[in-house]
Amino acid sequence: MRLVTSDVPALAVNGLSRFYGKRAAVRKLDLRVQPGDLYGFLGPNGAGKTTAIRAILGLIARSKGTVEIFGERDMVRQRAEVGAMVETPAFNDWLSGRANLTIAAAYAGRGSAADIDEALDRVGLRDRAKEKVRGYSLGMRQRLGIARALLGRPKLLVLDEPTNGLDPRGMREVRELLTELVRRDGLTVFVSSHLLSEVEAMCTRVGILDRGELRAEGTVQELVQRLGGSTDLEVGVSDRPAALTVLSKLEGVTVEGDGEAGRMLLKLKGLEPAVVNRALVLAGVEVSSLVPRAGTLEELFLSVTSSEPGVA
Ligand code: ATP
Repeated sequence: MRLVTSDVPALAVNGLSRFYGKRAAVRKLDLRVQPGDLYGFLGPNGAGKTTAIRAILGLIARSKGTVEIFGERDMVRQRAEVGAMVETPAFNDWLSGRANLTIAAAYAGRGSAADIDEALDRVGLRDRAKEKVRGYSLGMRQRLGIARALLGRPKLLVLDEPTNGLDPRGMREVRELLTELVRRDGLTVFVSSHLLSEVEAMCTRVGILDRGELRAEGTVQELVQRLGGSTDLEVGVSDRPAALTVLSKLEGVTVEGDGEAGRMLLKLKGLEPAVVNRALVLAGVEVSSLVPRAGTLEELFLSVTSSEPGVA
């Protein structure tokens, strides 16, 4: 019997490893994707994202580990819940978008004519569905690939680098589509990317993979905080020398130099801006402005991933 409650993760990956010979492309991967997440699986080129996704979907054998999808362990039954697009989707260029989906539906044994219409609608291709795919832009092909993944109304969508090769407009369209699929249609989306800005712009949760291992997982905000990410703070003060004396006694504050509009630029580690404010005011230094700037996912990404691509 299958139990689907809100406590059951949409995707649970437990100790997943995949070796090529003696080398691990993915090592002891644990992931939890909750229903309603738009989960960003982030990692530099060669980190093992595609290998992990293929192993999660059962497209390649797992060397070790298990995968549960909405609590289901059986791979055949899992497939009914998942729609996937791995790497650039291939289509028959000489057929229309709709014909391609019709063939895909027949081949996969899922997706009625109504499903095909709905999927085309969802990705904004209904009006172009009769045209041959050879005339489609890359962005349209990606969207058609997502429509194909939506056939059979899966609850979990797994997409490997769906914005790869797209121009900024195409990338934004895909981002907006995925956000809508989660917010409006209640899908759970697991999407890999090597683009930080993209993940930061759309994902509710993030896992960072490097050399086959998960280095960090959480919301963008949590990750930046948990991993000792620092916060930049700009402070406007009446008396700079007095402020410097106060700040030099506070642990977790580094004075970095000048910020905007004559303010001082500070770096805070494990310290709230309010603490800085209080210390200055108590010492009689007037504070005219406090402008915090949170650490970015980019800082975190660079701190937890290695500079050289490679295998673990
Ligand atoms: P990218 O963002 O560049 O697509 P990725 O994070 O998806 O990278 P993978 O394609 O999963 O990374 O590759 C991870 C590592 O596993 C790489 O070093 C790659 O060379 C290796 N690898 C992948 N497939 C095979 C294979 N069939 N045989 C041997 N090694 C492989």
